[in-house]
Amino acid sequence: MSSFDVVIIGSGPGGYVSAIRCAQLGFKTAIIEKYSTLGGTCLNVGCIPSKALLASSHHYEELQHFADHGIEVSGEVKVNLEKMIARKQAVVDQTSGGVKFLMDKNKITVFEGLGSFEDATHVKVTKADGSSDVIEGKNIIIATGSKPSTLPFIKLDKERVITSTEALKLPEVPKHLIIIGGGVIGIELGQVYLRLGAQVSVIEFLDRIIPGMDGGLSKELTKVLKKQGMKFYTSHKVKEVTRKGKNVTVLADDAKGNTVTFEGDYCLVAVGRRPYTDGLAADKAGVKVTERGMIEVNDHLQTNIPNIYAIGDVVRGAMLAHKAEEEGTLVAEIIAGQKPHIDYNLIPGVVYTWPEVAAVGKTEEQLKADGVNYKAGSFPFKALGRARAGGDIDGFVKILADAKTDEVLGIHMIGARCADLIAEAVTAMEFRASAEDISRMSHAHPTFAEAIKEAALAATDNRALHV
Ligand code: FAD
Repeated sequence: MSSFDVVIIGSGPGGYVSAIRCAQLGFKTAIIEKYSTLGGTCLNVGCIPSKALLASSHHYEELQHFADHGIEVSGEVKVNLEKMIARKQAVVDQTSGGVKFLMDKNKITVFEGLGSFEDATHVKVTKADGSSDVIEGKNIIIATGSKPSTLPFIKLDKERVITSTEALKLPEVPKHLIIIGGGVIGIELGQVYLRLGAQVSVIEFLDRIIPGMDGGLSKELTKVLKKQGMKFYTSHKVKEVTRKGKNVTVLADDAKGNTVTFEGDYCLVAVGRRPYTDGLAADKAGVKVTERGMIEVNDHLQTNIPNIYAIGDVVRGAMLAHKAEEEGTLVAEIIAGQKPHIDYNLIPGVVYTWPEVAAVGKTEEQLKADGVNYKAGSFPFKALGRARAGGDIDGFVKILADAKTDEVLGIHMIGARCADLIAEAVTAMEFRASAEDISRMSHAHPTFAEAIKEAALAATDNRALHV
């Protein structure tokens, strides 16, 4: 029987990053993945393929603005969805191959098969052909991730009533895509198909889309996406989804209790994800799993069994790849006797629509609920030279700071390149910057990042320069 210092179950961003850090720290490390490709949800059916399709569809959409820039395109411009999806798959294959390369480079043993506990130190790996091996791990890290969830009355046929996984490889552009759920995944995939020519209707149970983010961002994103043609039905409770042939009918009750009927050809169910522990046999190791399938952990991401840890989507907290990666690193270092720390307040959240939406720290709603005395400074992108030069004028940056100490408590932004701009906000907050600190840092001109400086100036003493 092969024996390892650390055995990791699941090769998503949590699992594979943890494996690399374990190897760097000198541990004999193994990783088990039930699929033939490494990288988990993120690389195979999540972050990377969705961004590939967002990029392709964005190129197509930008064509509409070519004329404004004095570029005349003659002849027909067509979308070849099959080719677009093949390109996406090539990006995925290359990225997943890169993870395999990293495993080999770091001398991490990869086992392909379903990992299931035999006891607290032994994991059985069952291959696709039914054969199995048992391996031993002094320490075991559960990184089994999550799967799309649904509503109890919806039958996902994965053809017309689909999850994000199928939405990444549709055979045609839908005529009318009905999306249940106005969270990040629904909105991003909705924008892909909107750009490619579909009618897109988003039905959301709560009173706004991207409900976890600051209300100001939600309002601005709704406004911009409406301008682009997306339709929103917030405060609508879906009660029935039926499919007949190529048609899907969705019934939802609006806020007044009236039933609204939606007729489409595809329905994307994007109501969230559930932690995934099917087939893991966690009970054989004595590991506590909640009713929802989530693994219970303490602040060190240790389960109730001391040598077994859990990270990423399968434990509490935001279901984000970079959160899983931080946890993977943290657990490896804890096993090595170090004392790492994650500030969960500083894990940024991003929506990769265009304009992009990004945030870190507390929202205005949270500060109000916590009774914090704060001040806010905002700056619109349309007042920036760089934004006007490029024609990307939607959105703003908002900085929230403590009214007394001026410490930055939250930074919220929507606009071009915000997914990258948010890194400055995280850095500033990590070093506990005040709004005035940011306002006194030189920002290259002309850049989108100047909006952060201007918002900081606005938050400091209402002294933004360019509004
Ligand atoms: P996963 O990536 O889910 O990996 C778990 C792995 O474990 C899987 O490969 C699974 O096959 C394997 N596994 C499970 N059980 C077993 C077992 N018993 N034996 C062996 N292997 C097993 N996050 C972002 O931060 N940014 C984004 O832009 C983003 N976009 C997304 C877009 C979509 C459409 C989706 C669906 C998700 C997106 N996410 C994004 C979320 C991100 O994908 C997840 O947060 C991240 O993948 C979680 O990583 P993980 O390592 O915990 O689990």
